Amino acid sequence: MATLEQSQAVYEVCPRLVPLNRQQTCWDGLICVKGQDLHLRIELPDDRDHRRAKLLGDWLLNQHLRSYRHLIGQRLQNTPDLATFLSELKNILEHTMQHQSEASKSQPSVTMATQCSQVIGDIGRLGWEKLSSIDPSFSSLQLISEGPNGSKHYITVHLDPQHPVVAPTCTTDLPGETLELHWTHQSTLADIYTQFEESLGKYREFWDTVAEIDEQTWVLEPERPMPSDRSRRIALGNNSSVQVTVDPLYPKMLPEFKFLGADHVINPMRDKLNANLKDWDTGRSLLSNLKTLLDIQFPSPQSSSREDFSEECGICYSYRLEGAIPDRACDNPQCNKPYHYSCLYEWLSSLPSGHQTISKYGFNTIFGNCPYCDVPIKIKRENNR
Ligand SMILES: [Zn+2]
Ligand SMILES: [Zn+2]
Repeated sequence: MATLEQSQAVYEVCPRLVPLNRQQTCWDGLICVKGQDLHLRIELPDDRDHRRAKLLGDWLLNQHLRSYRHLIGQRLQNTPDLATFLSELKNILEHTMQHQSEASKSQPSVTMATQCSQVIGDIGRLGWEKLSSIDPSFSSLQLISEGPNGSKHYITVHLDPQHPVVAPTCTTDLPGETLELHWTHQSTLADIYTQFEESLGKYREFWDTVAEIDEQTWVLEPERPMPSDRSRRIALGNNSSVQVTVDPLYPKMLPEFKFLGADHVINPMRDKLNANLKDWDTGRSLLSNLKTLLDIQFPSPQSSSREDFSEECGICYSYRLEGAIPDRACDNPQCNKPYHYSCLYEWLSSLPSGHQTISKYGFNTIFGNCPYCDVPIKIKRENNR
């Protein structure tokens, strides 16, 4: 951030905090919290990186800073600039001052202030390195756990205003059900974290299974698989692919399959898989079973390039259209042109020769001709699109 921009942004948060030098590496003045002025001095390194700032102040401010130093240090690392940090610092100071004034009145009720100090104590006992982020109102925070293969997993904990009497709600990146939290009035963040890590353990085999697929095949969808993604669309060859949906708790069991592409390519594969299903061996990995049962070598990053499998749609000339990739193809082996479902559906519906019929293919099948080779092509309406 340029110095002028920085000083304007700081001025808006703390109008009485001023730079003492032209480089704006030293700031001095007052920060006003709950109507009270506290003396604050900020020393920045020469590159003005606020993450390495030193905070100094009068004894009152120092007292507040000391009791919340972990949180303040954490916010210093995670805010994008000095002004944002200052506004979060004000927020934290407001909480601490509120907490102290209420503690002095010795109110027994669960107030926001006692809740926030409890949360901070909880994080301290859990370990600050496990905190990934916290919102300034202390009502939600994100914890991080590192898997054995270096993968990172997150749990977001939303605290109820009645915390800890009412259990928090959690969202995770786990592939299975949402985390069923066991919670009592005495539970702490450490208990949540333990339960989260136990759940992570249950999915280890699942992540190994999908990691093998991600490394050894071309995964067309999702574009960047997340730890919670159970499905993979794996390239089989030119404009044909198979989508597998893995059971996260039993990843070596037979997954759900969906073949996509031109009939003349995928039908023989589907038949071969169905004929060999009895040979599915749960002692082996999913990918190794797939290779054996289909009797093919999947195209892999070691043997081919991604462009070989990302041919654009023959109608809209793009590969990705509103997140979808071409998953239909002309059935004429000499043509094989790929299309998005929506493009082909619209194209055939708009043709004067296109007609919808009740046929052996079922209700709402549209017939027409391939825009490229003019050979008959059909598409079945899918209700979920
Ligand atoms: Zn298209
Ligand atoms: Zn065609």
